[in-house]
Amino acid sequence: MSNKLRMFSRMMSTGTRVPQVCIVGAGPAGFYAAMRLTKKLANVHVDIIEKLPVPFGLIRYGVAPDHPEVKNVINQFTKVAQQDNVSFYGNITLGKDVSLPQLRQNYDAVLLTYGAEEDKVLGIQNEDANNVIAARNFVGWYNGLPSDKDLQVDLSNDTAAILGQGNVALDVARILLSPIDEIKKTDITQHALDALAESKVRNLYLIGRRGPLQVAFTIKELREQLKMKDCSTIWRESDFIGVADVVASLPRPRKRLTELMLKSLEENKLKKEDTNSKRLYPIFLRSPNKFISDKDNVLKGIELFENRLYVKGPNVEEQGCVSTNEKELLDCGLALRSIGYKSVSVDEGLELLPQGMVNNDKGRILDAHPRLAKMYVAGWLGTGPVGVILHTMGNAFQVANTMCEDISKLENSRARGGFVELKRILRNEIVDWEGWKKIDQYELEQGKKVGKPREKICDVAKMVEIAYS
Ligand code: FAD
Repeated sequence: MSNKLRMFSRMMSTGTRVPQVCIVGAGPAGFYAAMRLTKKLANVHVDIIEKLPVPFGLIRYGVAPDHPEVKNVINQFTKVAQQDNVSFYGNITLGKDVSLPQLRQNYDAVLLTYGAEEDKVLGIQNEDANNVIAARNFVGWYNGLPSDKDLQVDLSNDTAAILGQGNVALDVARILLSPIDEIKKTDITQHALDALAESKVRNLYLIGRRGPLQVAFTIKELREQLKMKDCSTIWRESDFIGVADVVASLPRPRKRLTELMLKSLEENKLKKEDTNSKRLYPIFLRSPNKFISDKDNVLKGIELFENRLYVKGPNVEEQGCVSTNEKELLDCGLALRSIGYKSVSVDEGLELLPQGMVNNDKGRILDAHPRLAKMYVAGWLGTGPVGVILHTMGNAFQVANTMCEDISKLENSRARGGFVELKRILRNEIVDWEGWKKIDQYELEQGKKVGKPREKICDVAKMVEIAYS
């Protein structure tokens, strides 16, 4: 029995009423909520259960390998996990190893922070062609997500396209276009590094439905792209007609971003020759109509419809778009769909809104089946799959505050068994924090041997084996 479980059993036997909270999902929302709950409540025990044997969600499996500074939040989360009143239990999947009613039975409060694990699809012809890949899977592949480690990515064609113009799209573009010597110093997985070292991709199209004034990527990511060695960003002048006229009236972040695009466009015009070997082509006002594939289902190109903007509200950033009948064909051998993530329901009593999130009020889940009453949701599962870690933190803190209010009214309710009880029904090999520390140590050591900060283990069985070694 671990020290934390022992302490918990002692509290139960001495009659102290320790409210038991279960958080499902060890991503940023889960850890930030645990941080706030244990800060505000003097008397509480928080168990974080996680599908994978390892913690940190998209910090480990989403954030780009060449952005190590973003991953520093892991240090804060580690401190949270090491508190006496917090426990981490990995390798437990809600909906498979344990059900929501079972959690509700054993905990005073259950907070769902299991994120958004599916990708949105375009719903167009030939979307199943070989080498039409979800950016989500591509990101999982280069970041070592066990379920994506065997993804088949063919990088033998010199032209590729990304559908979408958000920051994930720019992450993917950077990984595809960066000089290999730059990314080999990161914690990118070896299988991705080997494939990227052989990559023939030289021209990458970044396709967006709307115009330059509506792009979803942010200035930091664009700046990074513009500074990339051996790569030019080539804008289409026709996409920027009228843009300079409205710049002055834009809100500050949008204004700075647009100015940067215009500056880059002007610099390109002055350039005498382009000696770089790779090119990123942002393309605006185009929607994919269908993927073109050959008889073997191999991707050959994308048919695009030209779009035109229409006014939707007072704000130019909110303009919508409709397709015209004008078509164009883009030849390419790889297409990455980066149009967003969506959450999934893990229990039949838990309904999701069409926007792909759980209906909630300040984190309290609404419209759930009565047996799931008094449950909470935070992070991407509650807000929808948008926003950076900072937004997720703000939301998780707010939901934890709501929970604190409710938990402080619990005094006369029946005591719950927490993980001591839950463990009786679990049949799998649970990986606790000590187990994760062993995996962590192993990965750091493997990385050191090849000059990388870490070499991730991409196989769940191997992770469990190391955790139990
Ligand atoms: P997640 O981080 O997804 O965590 C959910 C956790 O739940 C995961 O650990 C998952 O394994 C677990 N889980 C899932 N299903 C179950 C289940 N059934 N049972 C138990 N556990 C389960 N933000 C930034 O600020 N900077 C960046 O550079 C940045 N880069 C990003 C790159 C990508 C590709 C993506 C997709 C997002 C990026 N973000 C970035 C946004 C940031 O990752 C999110 O704001 C944040 O991770 C959302 O946190 P979350 O806890 O809601 O979800």
